Amino acid sequence: MNYYAARQRDEDKKWDYTCMNDGRTWPTGYCSKFLEAKHHTEGGYFHTQESIDKHNGFKDKYGPHNHGTKEEAMDCYKDYLLDNDLKFYPYKKSEEKNPAVRKEYRCQFGSCESYETGLANIDHRTYHLCDRHQTREAISSLFEVGEAWSSY
Ligand SMILES: [Zn+2]
Ligand SMILES: [Zn+2]
Repeated sequence: MNYYAARQRDEDKKWDYTCMNDGRTWPTGYCSKFLEAKHHTEGGYFHTQESIDKHNGFKDKYGPHNHGTKEEAMDCYKDYLLDNDLKFYPYKKSEEKNPAVRKEYRCQFGSCESYETGLANIDHRTYHLCDRHQTREAISSLFEVGEAWSSY
């Protein structure tokens, strides 16, 4: 079980977004040190060259950081998730044309009245969104980083 939260360091009172497991705590997301992406055949987690290039493209955003506040550390992790974890799944046109299959939900963005035309996934959460709101900006305003338990 992993526990995710912003935590203050004992030594200098700066903040990191961290993961805790079995009494051990370590910085995660961009608060951690950059590790070169490795293909799964070399013992890494990445399955395509595209995902490796994407990960390595964010190299300069990695820490260690010295966040002055808890909110800053949470924003740092949010930026990490928006860059690295956010995925859109627009429904295929054929499904969209069949109302029995899709269009069950209104778009979840603000007071948007349109029906969903696809999904967005981030941090193990799913959002139903219309064409206009399948964007990083919309997700950024819908989704907040906090504290979470997880089994992954
Ligand atoms: Zn950070
Ligand atoms: Zn919408």
